[in-house]
Amino acid sequence: MIATQVARENRGSLTEGRTPEELREIVQHVGAELELAPAEDIIEWAYATFGERFCLTSSMGDAVLAHLAAKVAPGVDVVFLDTGYHFAETIGTRDAVAATMDVNVITIQPRQSVEEQDAELGPELFRRDPDRCCALRKVEPLRTSLDGYDAWATGLRRAETRNRVIAPVIGWDAKKQKVKVSPIARWSDDDVDRYVEENGVLVNPLAYDGYPSIGCWPCTRRVAPGEDPRSGRWAGTNKTECGIHM
Ligand code: SF4
Repeated sequence: MIATQVARENRGSLTEGRTPEELREIVQHVGAELELAPAEDIIEWAYATFGERFCLTSSMGDAVLAHLAAKVAPGVDVVFLDTGYHFAETIGTRDAVAATMDVNVITIQPRQSVEEQDAELGPELFRRDPDRCCALRKVEPLRTSLDGYDAWATGLRRAETRNRVIAPVIGWDAKKQKVKVSPIARWSDDDVDRYVEENGVLVNPLAYDGYPSIGCWPCTRRVAPGEDPRSGRWAGTNKTECGIHM
């Protein structure tokens, strides 16, 4: 089943969206204003402004963003991209979030299953051409699934990689023609750990087993203490991002 079908079945009818010009104007007006706001305020603003045309995305490394949203935007859509290559622990975290939190978890999938992709392009595309594999299994399905939204929130943080140090809290995603909201962009690793501890937030068990950054199993390895937390992603290659945030 393709991503948009899954998303639409779960969400029912949608209200009309704003034009890209209108959305860009919103970014220009409130972007700087919300730059230093608490994460809850940022999500609350986005939900009030965009309503059902606002969603979160989560890779289920932890449930911090979903936990924040459940407080100020109960019932909000949380889009989870099931690449077909997730660890069982990641799927389990998704199921636990769906069962215990006041958010609407929507699972989207690539156009082709792993088996269909293998039949057409050969097995283990992730080894031969990880950029293409990510494009097919992450970037394209997410872009399609966001069709019915004007704004999307991510758990992206500036502390994660060099590519993310200038990520705005409220930005214009020119490729997707949508407002991109990063409520915890300013949070450090310690801020995340503190929020998890103080609020008993669900965390993917792999995070306590040497995986500080969790993606698809073929492209994620354990990280030794003191190593760059992102060094376990696409290890041994120059690749550092899947393309969703570029
Ligand atoms: S992270 Fe690896 S397995 Fe997952 S979509 Fe990208 S290349 Fe494919």
